[in-house]
Amino acid sequence: MAPQAGGWGGSRRLLRQLRDLMQSGGLWQDRLDSLVRLIADAMVAEVCSLYVMRAGEVLELFATQGLRREAVHRTRLRVGEGIVGEIASTGRPLSLQDAQQHPNFAYRPETGEEIFHSMLGVPLLRDRRVIGVLAVQNKTRRAYGEDELEALETVAMVLAEMVGGAGLIGEEEGRHTDSLATLPARLAGVTLNEGIGMGTAVPHERGIVIKQIVAEDIDVELHRLESSLSEMQESLDDLLQRQELSGDGEHVEVLETYRMFAEDRGWAERLREAVRSGLTAEAAVQRVLTDMRQRMTKVRDPYIRERYSDLEDLGNRLLHHLTGNDSTARDDLPDDLVLVARNLGPAELLDYDISRLRAVALEEGSPTAHVAIVARALGIPMIGRCSELLARVRPGDFVIIDGDVGQALLRPRQSVRQSFSDAIELRANRRAEQLANRALPPETRDGVRISLQANAGLLVDLDQLEESGAEGVGLYRTEVPFMVQERFPDAATQTELYARALDMAGERPVTFRTLDIGGDKALPYWSGTKDENPAMGWRAIRIGLDRPAMLRQQLRALLAAGAGRHLRLMFPMVSEVNELMQARALLDMELARHLARGAEPPTRLEVGVMLEVPALIWQLPALFARADFVSVGSNDLFQFLFAIDRGNPRLARRYDSLSPPILTLLRFLAAEADSHGVPLSVCGEMAGHPLEALALIGCGIRILSMPPSHVASVRSTVRSLKLGSLQEYVTYLSGLPNRSVRQHLRAYAGDHGIAL
Ligand code: PEP
Ligand code: MG
Repeated sequence: MAPQAGGWGGSRRLLRQLRDLMQSGGLWQDRLDSLVRLIADAMVAEVCSLYVMRAGEVLELFATQGLRREAVHRTRLRVGEGIVGEIASTGRPLSLQDAQQHPNFAYRPETGEEIFHSMLGVPLLRDRRVIGVLAVQNKTRRAYGEDELEALETVAMVLAEMVGGAGLIGEEEGRHTDSLATLPARLAGVTLNEGIGMGTAVPHERGIVIKQIVAEDIDVELHRLESSLSEMQESLDDLLQRQELSGDGEHVEVLETYRMFAEDRGWAERLREAVRSGLTAEAAVQRVLTDMRQRMTKVRDPYIRERYSDLEDLGNRLLHHLTGNDSTARDDLPDDLVLVARNLGPAELLDYDISRLRAVALEEGSPTAHVAIVARALGIPMIGRCSELLARVRPGDFVIIDGDVGQALLRPRQSVRQSFSDAIELRANRRAEQLANRALPPETRDGVRISLQANAGLLVDLDQLEESGAEGVGLYRTEVPFMVQERFPDAATQTELYARALDMAGERPVTFRTLDIGGDKALPYWSGTKDENPAMGWRAIRIGLDRPAMLRQQLRALLAAGAGRHLRLMFPMVSEVNELMQARALLDMELARHLARGAEPPTRLEVGVMLEVPALIWQLPALFARADFVSVGSNDLFQFLFAIDRGNPRLARRYDSLSPPILTLLRFLAAEADSHGVPLSVCGEMAGHPLEALALIGCGIRILSMPPSHVASVRSTVRSLKLGSLQEYVTYLSGLPNRSVRQHLRAYAGDHGIAL
């Protein structure tokens, strides 16, 4: 095919021949034999072999041109074994000039393949499952071109439908066999949106069975494609204008970008090109999607991956329009729908009846994924990075999605089910009560006022400020909006973003933390350095001071947004007071320029520091003399104090933040801050858990900043405690030799009627 090919156009004749062959009657084996012969001829290859996946994840040689005939139905390779097995296990093509040199080469004497050197193999994919492998081989050590790869992939797509649809393999064959499929199971994932939801698992069906692959009339197919594209754009306009999505927040932008994507000319052109190569409009969409999916496995850039999932969403939507098949309008969807999917685009989520949707679990996804942003705006519990989800969940299974912990419980026993449904009910009641109490002051029973603030990153979080009853934003992580942008936002975009955050907060003060990028917080468009130990690498203020243009631009934008308003800035990962002084000098310079331009100054400008690096603990007098406020970033501070990677699940329970060394340190910090008259807050995860908040208050901390959804429960804790004896008790606990004082504190809370 290569010499006659010149892109997909050359495969048109072959596609027709294949179709005619498959439609002709006769024995399947004869047809498959002719088929591999045809492909070998077209590809100018000495060998063409078709392997089909059988039960137990074994690939069986079903037909060959060029290898020994006696190997047919005899040669079998496990998934992962040999080059064919590797293609099946990765679902990706392989092109090798000398296959025998490949470390995974598995020699099978019955095939006689030792005389062939080069090899090009592609997976046969159906409903995303690998159902076989198609490979061509040549004696010479030749390199196969892009055109040849594309052509073979197109042929593989046609073959996959034929093989899959012909009953050559049983329905269950090739499926991930899991003898535990009926037992309860727990799958770990990560939280994309908090909350618990449970109900009946429904796999998100994107797969549309395409009945016709090869076009009868290319012009007709092109016309179908065009009209479905415009139909889809119109229906998207309706979908994205839904009432529950109104308001402010990134989800608005995310959906807007998605809509623009639908109108992207490059994408439409690739679809047309695929139709011109001889495919029906449906097959063209699938071809382009498969192609993108394969490219995408090599891409690590989170932004591009996110764009890809938007495109995949659009591709499937287009398929629905082309086939007139709307899977989400299925009337068989349960009332307690728990959606499970490999990934979802933002609009795909909206296709479901939100009133029935209890939770979502994904195999992929990340907290900044577009679908997660939309889920947060809609309050749907969601977890992601749940590997093996689709293989382990069967449609109709009862599942619990625990968004708080980031786990899925499959087919839980009745007792587990009951305790989660009690927890949901209790939580709903408590929530109602807490919401009713949100106007009550967060004051202890003996009259000490605690300031409860919210942590925010996306505008969606600010949207919850009012409902949470938080007094302000104690930590606005400015890097988070950067993480969902396409490129480094310029000063104007940043100004607009910060001004919007201030507008949304209204009278409540917002503490903007300057960019904390590097380490685990990667920006898709910022390569930074490949640090061996990123948490202790070139990150946050270190980058800011070494690349002052970037920090100055951010400071400029913050000053512009804060003109005529109260502005609070905070620098992350400060290790020595001198770094604060350098950052302050940059701020002074920008402020002077701001004023020289005749711009209005902030009504009040406060500059703070995150205390996350232990070295700062021994510079407190110098620090308190220069900082207007200090905020303890307990997440980072603890990882450095205990020398544990904060993201390592193996170490997550090894040391407890409720332990004597931590309590001793926090008591010391609170006392020092107090004696210098500098406000000290805690804004790490610790502050948002009632028991930890109790300990912090006992240590003398009076300002706590936490995710907005946690403010209400911490308020109840505050309002139910008495400070006097608590402080004494925490002092006692901090002198114990125990590894954890969690149980002691819990018992104390129980004895003193403190709400946890
Ligand atoms: C912290 O380290 O506790 C903190 C609040 O910062 P981040 O979690 O964003 O690193
Ligand atoms: Mg930190």
